[in-house]
Amino acid sequence: MELARRLDRLPPYLFVEINRRIGELRARGKDIIDFGIGDPDLPTPSHIVERLCQAAHDPVNHRYPETDGLAELREAIAEWYERRFGVTLNPAKEVLPLLGSKEGIGHMALCFMEPGDLALVPDPGYPPFSLGTILAGGEPYFMPLKEENDFLPDFDAIPDEVADKAKLMWLNYPNNPTGATAGLDFFERAIHFAQQHGLAICHDAPYTEVAFDGYKAPSFLQTPGAKNIGVEFHSLSKTYHMTGWRVGMMVGNADMVNALFRVKTNLDSGVPQAIQYAAVEALRGSQEHIAKHNAIFQQRRDRLVTVLNDVGLKARIPKATFYIWAKIPPGYTSIDFAKKLLDEVGIAVTPGIGYGREGEGYIRFSLTISDDRLEEGVNRLSSWQGRRR
Ligand SMILES: *Cc1c(COP(=O)(O)O)cnc(C)c1O
Repeated sequence: MELARRLDRLPPYLFVEINRRIGELRARGKDIIDFGIGDPDLPTPSHIVERLCQAAHDPVNHRYPETDGLAELREAIAEWYERRFGVTLNPAKEVLPLLGSKEGIGHMALCFMEPGDLALVPDPGYPPFSLGTILAGGEPYFMPLKEENDFLPDFDAIPDEVADKAKLMWLNYPNNPTGATAGLDFFERAIHFAQQHGLAICHDAPYTEVAFDGYKAPSFLQTPGAKNIGVEFHSLSKTYHMTGWRVGMMVGNADMVNALFRVKTNLDSGVPQAIQYAAVEALRGSQEHIAKHNAIFQQRRDRLVTVLNDVGLKARIPKATFYIWAKIPPGYTSIDFAKKLLDEVGIAVTPGIGYGREGEGYIRFSLTISDDRLEEGVNRLSSWQGRRR
């Protein structure tokens, strides 16, 4: 048996050792608090689950769905974009449901990459941007997101010959892992840059609804001209706490939507219909839980950021996302520091290097753990500081 060489190009899984350590410590009865996973701990609101159960009983929904989903779901997505962002979409041509947005993000590269083509990818960044590119035979060109630039890419620093050769640019705001946000002025600059170099833009926006202190994140598609050259990926995972149900969407440029549809129609048969009905209910039903959930995350954010800054892990207060991106002291790699936290206080975090070379020097805390566990973690961190003094 000879596996394809593209598999060798996937980076080694960096967290093998840390995950093994977590397993060992737990096996020895040690209580580990896991700040590593970005997956809402709060359940899917019950009216959405009810709709899913009801739809699951209907035999119509036991059969193959269509790749491009129910017209009702595409319409509900378009209505939601209109209501939330004032963005008008044609549900027949500018909306494509996905089996979670990660699926669409991964497959999108197949629509653009010829062997050796470049995609501009943020670093640190959500791994599927670069790994999808590599699996499609392309090459990621990393755009550093630096703290001094508020974790926005510096387009002027990208050489012209690179930008001209690139086919696609990935962006993601509110940002995972840094928690940074971007305004419409940034999207305008991105569109200008993309137009100059003939690039398409894919904006990944699953965190627009996870926002604090009254902040309302914009959609990339609110920017004039966005739909001429780009799409936005969105998801029900984070907004409606539906990570386990796998439903997301791509919206925007009709040619890009059609291209991904043509790829997907050969790879999958769409989102299970009962889940599509649950998604319609989520998008059209009560939105009350969003503010409630955000209030919970905001409290956790404030509690954790205060303590992190006290113990010397400098972190900005994010306006959106449920992540805290904290700077580690000099002299450690992010993996070594994550191991130290694990061994000394039983706290698991994600080492920044897992998001790219520019992530080195940082660790990511996710706020998606229960208030009790967060409190326990915060207490361990404050007394840890005592021990080091
Ligand atoms: C969570 C997340 C997604 C998508 O999640 P799905 O569950 O696949 O919809 C996409 N991008 C980023 C940056 C994320 O953090």
